Amino acid sequence: MSMRSSLLAGAGPATPAGRCRARHLVPAYLDCEVVPSAAPRRYFIRTFGCQMNVHDSERLAGILEGDGLVAAEGVEDADVVVLNTCCIRENADNKLYGHLGHLKAVKDRRPDLQIAVGGCLAQKDRDIIQQRAPWVDAVWGTHNVGRAGDLLATAGATGSPVLEILDATLDDDEAFPSALAVRRDQAWTAWVTIQIGCDNNCAFCIVPSVRGPEISRPFGQIVREVEDLAAAGTVEVTLLGQNVNSYGRDLTTRLRGEVDWHHHAEVTGAAWATAERPRARPLFADLLRDVARIDGIRRVRYTSPHPKDLRPETIEVMATESAVCPHLHLPLQAGSDRILALMHRGYTAARYLEKLAAARAAVADLAVTSDIIVGFPGETESDFERTLEVVAEAGYDSAYTFIYSPRPGTEAAGRTDEMIPAQVAAERFERLRIVVERSALARHQARLGRTEEILVEGPSKRDAGVVSGRTAQGKLVHFPAAGMLPAGTWADVRITRAAPHFLAGELLAVTCRPSHRTRIPVVAG
Ligand code: SF4
Repeated sequence: MSMRSSLLAGAGPATPAGRCRARHLVPAYLDCEVVPSAAPRRYFIRTFGCQMNVHDSERLAGILEGDGLVAAEGVEDADVVVLNTCCIRENADNKLYGHLGHLKAVKDRRPDLQIAVGGCLAQKDRDIIQQRAPWVDAVWGTHNVGRAGDLLATAGATGSPVLEILDATLDDDEAFPSALAVRRDQAWTAWVTIQIGCDNNCAFCIVPSVRGPEISRPFGQIVREVEDLAAAGTVEVTLLGQNVNSYGRDLTTRLRGEVDWHHHAEVTGAAWATAERPRARPLFADLLRDVARIDGIRRVRYTSPHPKDLRPETIEVMATESAVCPHLHLPLQAGSDRILALMHRGYTAARYLEKLAAARAAVADLAVTSDIIVGFPGETESDFERTLEVVAEAGYDSAYTFIYSPRPGTEAAGRTDEMIPAQVAAERFERLRIVVERSALARHQARLGRTEEILVEGPSKRDAGVVSGRTAQGKLVHFPAAGMLPAGTWADVRITRAAPHFLAGELLAVTCRPSHRTRIPVVAG
């Protein structure tokens, strides 16, 4: 694998030979005495963006706790503040520099505060961050999250800022957020990374350039991680990747040419390794089935799939494995074939709707959600009307809707003369919202009077006397509960009220108390 590292440090190597496991971030290679202190240093991580980043932050927390730090309540009581950035959302850089400006004021008061920036905006902007904010102590990218502790240690020891950005992962075993120590906030549910990077080239998306090509994690390693989670009481896992349903294609493409391909069940799973002919194919359906059959795992979710890669085998596993949740998140992005082609999405609206119909026919009580962009460069009124038609036909349970905004460096951002005026895009967005909410409300109203099995997530954010949880379809349900039900509790709830974005109900029975341990340090592999 080709790898180029850009690494700048004020003094000394930023790659200590031995990882410092002693406290206070003093690397082992420095000839100095570690003076124990009564109070451990505290860290605070602010996460921006998608679930991938949320899980990267869990991994960062695991690394920092491995170095003896403990979680802080917020910036004010932290000794180390990490901004785990995302460049996918609009104005990401403005938000980052706004936060860094605030942190400078804190650092002026407390010069010992260490400030670090990681994630995809750091990967994209590299040394620009420390040029604009020289008070930042450490910067790392998407391929070297595992080096966070070492880089902070080096910055602390040398007193100089450190930057390390890799263009590819140093080591496949370290590529996956789940492959290192993880500090998960919630023990009853867990994200499990199965794949990183993306081989697609959607014209609006920056992910391939900041996350790199698809790399699938070995099959056996994923299954073992989920087995360990289940043994510790986790009941729900979400398989995570940029394009989960192409999981494994890189593995089978590489191994099918080998004479001993039968011996690679650890990497590909048993079904592929025992097949008569080693074909290059995704392994997602095999993985979904094997994870769903792990004792103790009652709900398996996955995100995000790509419509062009949704295969009948996956739908069949969803239909037949009771632990796989009847929820399909299938990003449409646009309903006009012309716009879909400009986006390089690889499907037509008709093909998308065919796959959706096949999934609905096979999977009982399937909820379908989506992502939709309005105002893509060059989108005409008739393109947009086609989007409205397809959205109405799809009948979503909910959809994340976005007004297009350019991401520097993407193909679509270069179509400057075709940008849609903000007012037109806002008006289309509103029309789309109405169509989405109409179908969402109708689908929620169809659940009135039903008894739903809810997995409790905790108290409602708005009312401490109300508990919130989710159905297998992923629907948010609020219900009053006398005495708080802890997260991870299973309850039967009768649905009494429906709104476009949630359901409300009354508690019928608590069916199962949580069995997880309160915290699970996980090292997979
Ligand atoms: S499939 Fe498209 S939108 Fe999704 S991560 Fe890959 S390039 Fe981005």
